[in-house]
Amino acid sequence: MAEKQSTSRVAVITGASSGIGAATARALAAQGYRIALLARRLDRIEALAAELDNGSIAVQADVTDRDALVAAAARVQEELGGADVLMNNAGTMLLGPFSSERREDYRAMIEANLLGAITATEVFLEQLRDGGGDLVNISSVAGRTARATNGVYAATKWGINGWSESLRQELLPDVRVTLIEPGVVDTDLASHITDDATREAVQKGYDAATVTPAEVAEIIAFVLARPRHLVINEVLLRPADQLG
Ligand code: NDP
Repeated sequence: MAEKQSTSRVAVITGASSGIGAATARALAAQGYRIALLARRLDRIEALAAELDNGSIAVQADVTDRDALVAAAARVQEELGGADVLMNNAGTMLLGPFSSERREDYRAMIEANLLGAITATEVFLEQLRDGGGDLVNISSVAGRTARATNGVYAATKWGINGWSESLRQELLPDVRVTLIEPGVVDTDLASHITDDATREAVQKGYDAATVTPAEVAEIIAFVLARPRHLVINEVLLRPADQLG
């Protein structure tokens, strides 16, 4: 088993191929972290690993595939000496009127956003516990509010919130647990919506987004840089003009 290098913390980021995950990889690398970049799009995470050029690794993994996560954890242990931080960020937001037509979307969101985060955590937990780690769960404003057409997405994020609070109590003081709840952030998130009318409407809001992934990443990097005796458990952030 490789020794953990005390000079360099290791962060595992799911959904590191774009948006908030990729931006956080850049922010943490700037603080000296080596990153295990997990996502399905291998070309993107390989390009990001090359850009970071600091020993970070690209690991193709679908968070709905437990075997892929187990293999990823073995690589992180072997090549990076284990994970200090797990950021559960992979997710999709497949909004639309509640209907049987979108039942595949519902299953996909629950499997990636909620079950994917739970599975990645149980797979990486022993690495996080080994020496004091951090778990960062990316929830959403939709984890505290709900509105028409976002019910199942909101259910996954409310689920993340409840599960995170339970884990916070269970894992202290070994693993610090932090929930990040962004409002609209300028990423590709809305582009995957399958319902055409909903996608066009939501995309307009995303086209006008003012908060950047780098701004969210800066907050996550700040949270992780607090001394071990202090933890920021929850961060709710919105564009200054976002109502709900
Ligand atoms: P992006 O679409 O840019 O990023 C989503 C990431 O998730 C991609 O890297 C994608 O990688 C990955 N992903 C999706 N499904 C899977 C899967 N099954 N297995 C592995 N990786 C997967 O959007 P964001 O950066 O905005 O989204 C990141 C997180 O932030 C999500 O959880 C989202 O709910 C949350 N969030 C975003 C907000 C926003 O306004 N942008 C607001 C609040 C929360 P790949 O396709 O390569 O696998």
